[in-house]
Amino acid sequence: MSYSSSFIPFVDFQLQPSLQQELEQAIRSVIEQGDYVLGRAVSEFESLFAQVCETRFGVGVACGTDAVALGLQACGIGPGDEVLLPANTFVATLIGVLRTGATPILVDCDPQTALIDLLAAEKAITSRTRAIVPVHLYGQMVSPTALLNLASAYDLLILEDAAQAHLAEREGYRAGSVGSAAAFSFYPSKNLGAMGDGGMVLTSEEIVAQTVRSLRNYGALRKYFHTDLGTNSRLDSIQAAVLQVKLAHLPAWNADRYRIAQQYDALLLPLAQYGIVPIDNQSGQGHVYHLYVIRVTDYCPIDRTALQTGLTELGIQTGIHYPIPCHLQPAYQHLGYRAGDFPVAERLSQEILSLPLYPGMVEAQVQQVVEAITALVNRSLEQPPYSLMEIQPDRSLLAG
Ligand SMILES: *Cc1c(COP(=O)(O)O)cnc(C)c1O
Repeated sequence: MSYSSSFIPFVDFQLQPSLQQELEQAIRSVIEQGDYVLGRAVSEFESLFAQVCETRFGVGVACGTDAVALGLQACGIGPGDEVLLPANTFVATLIGVLRTGATPILVDCDPQTALIDLLAAEKAITSRTRAIVPVHLYGQMVSPTALLNLASAYDLLILEDAAQAHLAEREGYRAGSVGSAAAFSFYPSKNLGAMGDGGMVLTSEEIVAQTVRSLRNYGALRKYFHTDLGTNSRLDSIQAAVLQVKLAHLPAWNADRYRIAQQYDALLLPLAQYGIVPIDNQSGQGHVYHLYVIRVTDYCPIDRTALQTGLTELGIQTGIHYPIPCHLQPAYQHLGYRAGDFPVAERLSQEILSLPLYPGMVEAQVQQVVEAITALVNRSLEQPPYSLMEIQPDRSLLAG
């Protein structure tokens, strides 16, 4: 974790020696216990995670995709139901909805926050719409009050996709505590990551928790008595033990992510005049910055691809989350959407760039990233056909 070379990875999974020791101890105790599936470590972590997320029940599952699917299924969503979700999410959200047999209805997003546009969602509601799956994208929650208003006006059920938002907060709500249920992922690169796959459904409704417990375990609450058409999707005891150790560190890690994001915000400010603008944080300190994403807009003298390539050459790894919106993915052409259906999501997919961010990243590294971006922008400014005179930033893009 020491800052010795100029190479800056996108994320850094290196463990501090003290944490590694804690993890080895936790894994060893599961080995001694021998309860690898649905063991003590799982039920302990389930209660703990539900508690810190201010919900009543946690049910560990195999991954975040299953958490979306089983959470919706447990809420009674299935064939014939329409489910609203953003077009600009990781494809797993869509897969989760499709797995229930329901019809996904994609919705465009807000250009400033990249979160689902709730006015567009409202317009997409029909008599068959039963649920909405807001995605707390990049670590920022979709406004809980706006969501709850929409849900109560149209009698919709909310399942939060909180896979990128462990412990995020907004308007006094914790991610995972807003809807009937919520889906979390513990994929290694998430804010709370296992040493493999893992996921959880959170809910405050006992019947939903009970149904997910059955669904994840072959549709049986009692051994060999199958009441639901279930599956096998469980969180491993070893992963639960790892997650319990890491959960204790999560508030500090999230605070570190927030500190790094603040540093990026401040250092990137001078680049706004050249059309480089961060995705907007409208939730203050409740944003947990799973990703720090900038937009390389049309007003920037360098295009996104050239900027990314230039950064790679300078030893700085970046990512794009996500380069192709769900409705343009080859696998989902049968849903009947076309290019142009979600203009904001489509434009953002061309503009966004995720910068390196991980707990332990030091300010000098943040500076190095911003200096590299600045140098690449300046180099492009000096090259025809661009000149300073030609650049007319669109103020509306930079506002708020
Ligand atoms: C990671 C992620 C998922 C899927 O989680 P897995 O554990 O990889 O199945 C779902 N939705 C979003 C928004 C994610 O980022």
